[in-house]
Amino acid sequence: MLPASASTGPTEDDWAAAVAAVRRLPADARVLLICHVNPDGDALGSMLGFGLGLRRLGVRRLQATFPGPPEVPESLRWLPGFDDLLVPAVDAYPDPDLVVCFDAASESRLGELVDRLDTAGEALVLDHHASNTGFGRIHLVDPRAAATSVVAEELLARLDVPLDADTATCLYVALATDTGSFRFEATTPAVHQLAARLIATGIRPGDISRRVFDTRPFGAVRLFGEVLGRARLDPAAAAGRGLVWTYATLDDLARYEQQPYVLESLIDSVRCTAEADVACVLKQVAVDEWAVSMRSKGAVDVSRVATVLGGGGHRFAAGFTGRGGADEVLGRIRAELDGALTGS
Ligand code: AMP
Ligand code: MN
Ligand code: MN
Repeated sequence: MLPASASTGPTEDDWAAAVAAVRRLPADARVLLICHVNPDGDALGSMLGFGLGLRRLGVRRLQATFPGPPEVPESLRWLPGFDDLLVPAVDAYPDPDLVVCFDAASESRLGELVDRLDTAGEALVLDHHASNTGFGRIHLVDPRAAATSVVAEELLARLDVPLDADTATCLYVALATDTGSFRFEATTPAVHQLAARLIATGIRPGDISRRVFDTRPFGAVRLFGEVLGRARLDPAAAAGRGLVWTYATLDDLARYEQQPYVLESLIDSVRCTAEADVACVLKQVAVDEWAVSMRSKGAVDVSRVATVLGGGGHRFAAGFTGRGGADEVLGRIRAELDGALTGS
């Protein structure tokens, strides 16, 4: 069953339970923070920002981790807490006193670390996906929040942890990432008020934005050129709303000597296509396996399409793992896009 917070956000009881779970930790408690596989700015930023806050509360035995390959985009490797909090998944406490999950809508996003939900003394979930399945025991899930870091900041405030520049940097990166640098619909007055509180700690938004969004290796610039050059526009797709798509293979990455994570921002260069409501990027992860990113300008709820195809996400940004050839995966996307609009 979905938690009550799935549509309305956390209740006062939820907040009280979360605060109590942290406050009652013994001095030598082991706390494990987990964010979703292939972590983005919100996953890492909310997790590390919260971790730094817990440290200020005196939590000493503290680990942060995520499932899958222990690789993080260079654009996020400089985050405060990255070097001293993050551990590879294989080294994560097997039975922590408290586990806290960040930005993961379902257990599948926790990969091999999912067993910690059962082995931990207490399981707290911080998230903002409307599709959150209600896993874990204490739920701070607010689909109205622009980023998981909005929830993390409120919990830190309720724990009376003052914001310092390091915590603020992590939470700011998370907020800026999930709002597309304060451009998306989720950019409410509350988002700007939170950004103001974070910037007031003395952090430098210009430096942060350049490091996170505007820096990539020259090889990646040229790789983007080639991959964008093969983009295709299908104006009839999505019941006439239009689809623009491209793909990048493991061979493309090898030729330009690039890591898979450089492709995370590729969708942003594709989705600006005026003639298409939906944008799609297929990123090869293995033979016949693709990480698919989808974006919508509003006519299509891409989370519905992604969920039917085995993934999830938000109305305007969603994804799934596609199996088979690129054309096959695209065929399934096209079929679901038509269905999503005609209601069939
Ligand atoms: P991305 O295109 O990778 O930036 O992902 C956009 C959003 O889609 C993320 O914030 C996730 O909520 C969701 N998402 C992406 N991939 C998956 C997946 N394989 N399973 C579930 N949700 C996903
Ligand atoms: Mn995320
Ligand atoms: Mn998020």
